[in-house]
Amino acid sequence: MKASTFPIFTLKDAPADAEIISHKLMIQSGMIRKLSSGQYSWLPIGLKVISKIENIIRNELNAIGCREILMPFIQPAELWKESGRWDQYGPELLRFKDRNDRDFCFGPTFEEVITDLIRNEISSYKQLPLNLFQISTKFRDEIRPRFGVMRAREFIMKDAYSFHSNQKCLDETYDIYKLAYTNIFNKLMLEFTIVDADSGNIGGNQSNEFHVIADTGEDDLLLDESLNGMNLEIAKIKYSEDDLSKIIKKSGLIHKKGIEVGHIFKLGKKYSESMKAKITLKDSSITNVFMGCYGIGVTRIVAAAIEQNHDDSGIIWPQSLSPFQVVLIEIDGAKNEQVRIYSQKIYNELCTSNIDIIYDDRDLKMGSKIKDWELLGIPHVIIIGKKETENNNVVYKSRLSKDKKEFSFDKLIEKISKS
Ligand code: ATP
Ligand code: MG
Repeated sequence: MKASTFPIFTLKDAPADAEIISHKLMIQSGMIRKLSSGQYSWLPIGLKVISKIENIIRNELNAIGCREILMPFIQPAELWKESGRWDQYGPELLRFKDRNDRDFCFGPTFEEVITDLIRNEISSYKQLPLNLFQISTKFRDEIRPRFGVMRAREFIMKDAYSFHSNQKCLDETYDIYKLAYTNIFNKLMLEFTIVDADSGNIGGNQSNEFHVIADTGEDDLLLDESLNGMNLEIAKIKYSEDDLSKIIKKSGLIHKKGIEVGHIFKLGKKYSESMKAKITLKDSSITNVFMGCYGIGVTRIVAAAIEQNHDDSGIIWPQSLSPFQVVLIEIDGAKNEQVRIYSQKIYNELCTSNIDIIYDDRDLKMGSKIKDWELLGIPHVIIIGKKETENNNVVYKSRLSKDKKEFSFDKLIEKISKS
């Protein structure tokens, strides 16, 4: 990719109203722009990060036999009335009427829609277990949208649903998702923890949350030394205040802040009973389907990753999330034809080696180019100017260590593919 055809909308200064570092850096590096409260447009470089996250999620879910679907964003009220949540869900559910005076809402979550889909398709235990997921926009009219995409009103979530003819199958599948989620967050290269959680608005009898550990997190976690533990919210439900402080003292649990990036639930029959999703079992008896649901906050992960990976100059992307693997910064190529020819040659060769590279061929001063790419956090930086062109080598800089070294082309490829 050439920067002359890939718009880079970096800003000189961080926005004054952004409270946390990820929000500041996402705006300043031109990943997102605000439309209105809790609503953001994703610009090309931001969208590239989203697609990296989505691909990691897709691969892991496909590996456990979960198949992708896509459901409508706008949902009819009838389904929510059937499940009982039309009245239970508060003002976070954004409701409206169509031209025929029928009630609708913007989808904050999809248990009703998927249960409706499945009750019409599945009638026998022979068709189960079944695992489906989608990656799509959700809308929640949050009381306090803040921190950019961290707590937005419109955001991208991956939601998966599983269907079973018995509790045992649900229990086993739940553990499989837990492991798949662990693989996903490991591949995303984030420091995270799994805690016992409250099922909240979604319902069910068991749930776990996945948290990225960060001081700016909105959730309070009680963790042991190996970072296992529970959400303080659920600890408060389980124990009295006195008991809780005793437990904390005795067990040496530590209080950390977390950003909730994933949440899995055993729903059991909550939706299949209220919405009458039934199947025939082997012995011809009829039962309501057992369900699980599994969410990941795709856009929130982008912000959480930046909270964990940045320095004073900007973002430092983990390899797995970086919008590009390598940036090639050409110095004065617009004025010096030899530099342009040489940079183009190195760029072509790196493309041929299947390296995901952006070639900064913009007519800008070296200082501003370097500043841009430090802000954007690409892990490997190659610099080519007059001297490098004459010496037939390149300068290589790592974003993380900021070490600068001269390399021949072969050594460069070796260096990049190793790290
Ligand atoms: P929170 O407690 O942060 O409000 P939640 O428990 O209501 O989240 P879930 O219903 O569990 O959220 O949704 C699944 C995932 O979607 C969450 O783990 C989170 O990563 C993401 N998510 C939820 N609400 C938002 C939001 N307002 N903005 C961005 N991501 C969100
Ligand atoms: Mg949750």
